[in-house]
Amino acid sequence: MQLVFATNNLNKLKEVQSLIPKHIKLLSLKDIGCFEEVPETQKTIKGNAIQKAEYIKTHYGFDCFADDTGLEVDSLNGEPGVYSARYAGPQRDTNDNMDQLLKNLVNKKNRDAQFKTVIALELDNNIKTFTGICKGEITKHKYGEKGFGYDPIFKPKNYSMTFAEMDLSLKNKIGHRGKAIQKLVEYLKSLESKI
Ligand code: IMP
Repeated sequence: MQLVFATNNLNKLKEVQSLIPKHIKLLSLKDIGCFEEVPETQKTIKGNAIQKAEYIKTHYGFDCFADDTGLEVDSLNGEPGVYSARYAGPQRDTNDNMDQLLKNLVNKKNRDAQFKTVIALELDNNIKTFTGICKGEITKHKYGEKGFGYDPIFKPKNYSMTFAEMDLSLKNKIGHRGKAIQKLVEYLKSLESKI
């Protein structure tokens, strides 16, 4: 069975391929000849994940799953959320985004936040979603060099270091994306006898 993962991030693809049942072969967007930008214009993280999965099914005919992630900060009413990638503007610059967030939190006591990943699976014309959440807080400064995005300013609950100070294996184990992937994998395994 073939399933498209709507990404061109080879690291993500490799990671998920190693976790899912062996008879499912993952294809990337490149593998199916999709080189255009897949639209993500919805107002929610879940909406974007579904939009991407449906786009692939409609335009390329493949069963597919897609992920979307955002950082939700309590005292900013869930911002940057679905706008995480372009919080400081269309240049989508990671450092600008972090600086913007740190600035917006200067006078806030509550720095609680969570990363949320939603994976939407489009299989046999049904959509199913899987959500992974990692709770934590936004630090006052940037710490660490690993990871990407907001990792240097996100400290997961019960840990004394940011995601950017952690090994990837630990981040995957406790992180939002890892948890959502785990749920997807369990679901695909539960279908194993049927597909
Ligand atoms: P995407 O949906 O995976 O493209 O993520 C949207 C944006 O959220 C990215 O551009 C990053 O700024 C941020 N982001 C997503 N995942 C992570 C993560 O694991 N750590 C830090 N930032 C992330």
